[in-house]
Amino acid sequence: MARVAFIGLGRMGHGMAGRYLDAGFEVAVWNRSKAKADDLIARGARWAASPEDAAKEADAVVTMVADDEASRRVWLGKNGGAAAMKAGALAIECSTVSHAHALEMARELNSRGLIYIDCPVTGLPEAAATGKLTLLVGADPADLEKARPYLAPLSTTIRHFGAVGTGTVFKLINNLLGAVQIASLAEGVAIAEQAGLDMKLVAEALATGAVASPQVIRHSKRMAARDFSGASFTAALRHKDAAYAVALAETLLAGVPVSRAALAAYDRARAHAADGDEGQMIEIVSRPK
Ligand code: NAP
Repeated sequence: MARVAFIGLGRMGHGMAGRYLDAGFEVAVWNRSKAKADDLIARGARWAASPEDAAKEADAVVTMVADDEASRRVWLGKNGGAAAMKAGALAIECSTVSHAHALEMARELNSRGLIYIDCPVTGLPEAAATGKLTLLVGADPADLEKARPYLAPLSTTIRHFGAVGTGTVFKLINNLLGAVQIASLAEGVAIAEQAGLDMKLVAEALATGAVASPQVIRHSKRMAARDFSGASFTAALRHKDAAYAVALAETLLAGVPVSRAALAAYDRARAHAADGDEGQMIEIVSRPK
């Protein structure tokens, strides 16, 4: 039976780890706070005392943690996973990390005889729990072939952008566009409110018009109703992704003023409610003149 170590059981990782159990893998799990693993343990996962303990014997180690710092910790920190992995094992980074970090991890893990692929994802926690994510992969083609059996429980949609790091490049562009859209949507909704428009009609018109991206459809209704229940993506995570994206952009382009403005807007949203839904941006934008 193929063995997977799954590290990081937050909103996304918890459902993803469950997919491996459902698919019949032997699964070891680790999370910084153990309580999130309880039901997975009840379903047959082995609780590991550390990422290192989870990774020993694993054919593939999959990580889904918050950011660069958390990723570094679980791969290379004290009792990190990399030290225990067997030669030729797969290191599959699903967390959204910076491009520089993905390249650094690839170099470091490759030098230890491991295969590192970057595999950030799109899709909400519900998609994570039902195997309906989109996987954005950066990998050598031969490495991707080796990884496919370990990606299958997460998704049937794999977009292979090229060498290691390219999945992350696309993911950061994708989430940067999301940041720009949501920040500008908040301003649009706030303008409509102050101008006295019928907000039910505004939400409906936005959701069916030419700017109706899934982000706009989801957040226009939530912003107009100030209903942020069922938060799936926080202001802190959106800010992190926008910051990584702007850092990458600035190595490639002379200037990214729109992206920088969205990043600044998410800096304020994070200060307002870091763990709140990213759409709570409306609460800081909506200040009448
Ligand atoms: P989350 O619910 O906040 O979970 C974050 C995970 O990272 C938890 O397991 C947390 O452990 C762990 N973590 C944080 N800091 C750590 C550290 N210093 N050391 C070790 N572990 C640490 O976030 P999420 O929504 O699942 O997102 C996880 C990743 O997926 C992020 O990179 C995010 O950008 C990306 N993503 C999210 C979504 C979404 O809709 N939510 C969609 C696509 C991609 P604890 O449980 O102990 O806090």
